[in-house]
Amino acid sequence: MASRAFTVTLEPVAACNLACAYCYAVKGTAAQPDAGLFLRSLARIGRYAADQGFDEVHCVWLGGEPLLAGHAFFEGVADWTAAAPAGIRVRHFLQTNGLLLDDAYCRLFKAADVQLGLSLDGPQAVHDALRRTSQGGPTFPRVMAAAELLRRHAVPFGCAAVVTRMTLGREQEIYDFFCGLGCGFRINPVIPGPGAARRNVLIEPEEYGRCLVRFFDAWSDPRGDRVPVSPLDNYVVALLGGELRECQQQPSCARQGLGLKPNGDVVRCGRFQDRILGNLEEADLDALLAGREPDPFEARVAALTGCHGCSYWRQCHGGCPHNAVAFGRDLQARDPFCAAFKMIFSHIARALSL
Ligand code: SF4
Ligand code: SF4
Repeated sequence: MASRAFTVTLEPVAACNLACAYCYAVKGTAAQPDAGLFLRSLARIGRYAADQGFDEVHCVWLGGEPLLAGHAFFEGVADWTAAAPAGIRVRHFLQTNGLLLDDAYCRLFKAADVQLGLSLDGPQAVHDALRRTSQGGPTFPRVMAAAELLRRHAVPFGCAAVVTRMTLGREQEIYDFFCGLGCGFRINPVIPGPGAARRNVLIEPEEYGRCLVRFFDAWSDPRGDRVPVSPLDNYVVALLGGELRECQQQPSCARQGLGLKPNGDVVRCGRFQDRILGNLEEADLDALLAGREPDPFEARVAALTGCHGCSYWRQCHGGCPHNAVAFGRDLQARDPFCAAFKMIFSHIARALSL
């Protein structure tokens, strides 16, 4: 039987050591986490997941830059993992810009079987255009050094590339770059934030759709050094009638996970910068969630009447509620990238002769 995973997106610090032009996060300045508070909150969420009958907890570490939390903090996380509630398997996934990775982190992550995601947008010209230090300096050489360090320690990792205006038309070059690196990658469209709006890096849904199609065509080439590209691999599985692996494809992401902020505030998903449900130092999780009945995230699937007749309803379910909100729409609205989804789903269906 497939395991049931409860996903917790964790933000131990809101600060970051970079100043990427498209960042949507509301950054704080305190780089040191309140480790006691944060680990108490995490333990409460772990117990909640066990009580709800989940058999895995997936901890997805995001930021700010999570490695600013420090080695001692992550040693505390490893201790908590070892003492997780009976019957619960805890798995860790950590997204980092890589600049703070060192031998000690690599040893810790290898021992704890942490899956690393390295933020890398592609070749140097693409990456350094928008991912820069607060002094405006380049970061590409340091990210490549981090990749090399992970390799030396045999820590498994993939990359995460943000799709911006810089990406458009360079999909083959970017795919070739990751093939050369020998590393699978995930593409995510840039979403609005103070930086993205100011620098005019946002892309239209149709542009994102054409970009996904070009990545798919590059990825379809049966060359010897192929690497996986998400979410395209997950879309193929879904179109073939298989498992829906993306949170954004589920009928509802409600009750499948939560986000935890540095001060113990709980959100539905870590991508939300507001819409705080409450604080785990002040109320228990059952009480916080009970105050959300009827749950607007659960209600969304019924409210998306314009989607119900869509040929790709099973593979999409209206997409991501956070995207809807980030683009200034209502939580109950369909994902603004609807046109992109239709374009890539129909392209894959044609390629597979479905
Ligand atoms: S809000 Fe979007 S990103 Fe967050 S869990 Fe739901 S579908 Fe996933
Ligand atoms: S592709 Fe568009 S219309 Fe179809 S289910 Fe997704 S968001 Fe709705």
